[in-house]
Amino acid sequence: MLSNEKIEIKCPSCQKTFSYTVDQLQKGQSKRCPHCGNDIRFEESHPGEVGKLEDKTKKSLADIDKKITMTIRE
Ligand SMILES: [Zn+2]
Repeated sequence: MLSNEKIEIKCPSCQKTFSYTVDQLQKGQSKRCPHCGNDIRFEESHPGEVGKLEDKTKKSLADIDKKITMTIRE
């Protein structure tokens, strides 16, 4: 499934990398770095990261966009 594709994220604070699946990454959402606890927000604070993220998963995110909306409501 596309939603299980893993995306590598580099923490801008501690420079360590960790990964989330596409399913776990939602547009406009923030994730906490598991290493240093830094709050990493996609789209706004780190447009460079988002650019890479979307470039790699643009199609996947578009495909699961409806699914994301449903998830947020819960
Ligand atoms: Zn970190």
